[in-house]
Amino acid sequence: MRKLLIVFCLMMFAIANAATDWDSEAALKRVNTIGSKLLKANNVNYDIEFKVSNEEDVNAYANLDKEIYVYKGLLQFVDNDEELAGVIGHEMGHIINGHCAKQGVLNTGIAVVASMVTKNETVNAIGQHLAQSKLSRSDEFEADITGIDLMVKAGYNPLAMPSLLNKISGDAYIDILQTHPSGEKRILNAYNYIEYNYASKLKNGYNTDSYKKAIEMINPAIEKRKNSQRLTKKFNKQQAKLLKKKEKRAKKMQGTSSVWDGYFTTLQYLAG
Ligand SMILES: [Zn+2]
Repeated sequence: MRKLLIVFCLMMFAIANAATDWDSEAALKRVNTIGSKLLKANNVNYDIEFKVSNEEDVNAYANLDKEIYVYKGLLQFVDNDEELAGVIGHEMGHIINGHCAKQGVLNTGIAVVASMVTKNETVNAIGQHLAQSKLSRSDEFEADITGIDLMVKAGYNPLAMPSLLNKISGDAYIDILQTHPSGEKRILNAYNYIEYNYASKLKNGYNTDSYKKAIEMINPAIEKRKNSQRLTKKFNKQQAKLLKKKEKRAKKMQGTSSVWDGYFTTLQYLAG
């Protein structure tokens, strides 16, 4: 009898623990808070909606309906809100830069098939497909640095981005995982951008093991560049080009572009 009672107590304890482990409402609130903060601080004029998926995968994606899905597995995987801001900022970067629309054109086949099912399923099917189809290497780089800009304006430490990229490079995070470019190149791309645009943030560093590992990984490449005039020149040229793009992007996301720009984008989209 006593044994049974102990087993019963253990069972109740396990059930209570499982119930408090995952609170999808609280998770949605967390994602919404960070997402809204990123949108507001950057005056992003797009109607982006945030959703939480109860699936265990370490995953997130953005879809054509301007929805960003963050999976339970990913929410439990990030160290803090700053890394989560990195995830959401990256996905917002795909939307702001029009990567989703571009991929949507490439993948109209699946959209047609999916239109036969319900709207929600359609959205998910397309989103899943987008996440699994390979976005180009430059799209991933661009989403990372857009995320960094969004983070800085919203008061998040941009060094959480390289920290996050290091962490997920060995994991099953479908979107950010995109095996091309390698994790190391993604980290270096993010680091270089931060060094050029937000030098003061680098001085303070970032206190996660993952960030330290990321820096160790890319340090030889940084040293090599700093010791080479040719590589320094190349770095400055690349970053100056990115800065111009950044200014264009800022105008675009704040909706200050002309009506024609909107038509043009639609025409381009339809023309594929
Ligand atoms: Zn991505």
